Amino acid sequence: MATKVIEQFICNACWNKNGTVVEAVERLTLGAREWDLCEEHRDRFGKLLGEALDVVEPIAVSA
Ligand SMILES: [Zn+2]
Repeated sequence: MATKVIEQFICNACWNKNGTVVEAVERLTLGAREWDLCEEHRDRFGKLLGEALDVVEPIAVSA
């Protein structure tokens, strides 16, 4: 019997929080570390990073 493996990236934050499998839409890389994030967590981390780096305007995300 043949087996097909489907690779899916899931949000690390949702998974770590409550074991929920949510499809990731973005990968955040910082040095050697990286996180796959869903839309909600991407926005949340983007906001936090912006505040941490004193960026007032949201950073433009190229499509
Ligand atoms: Zn998430």
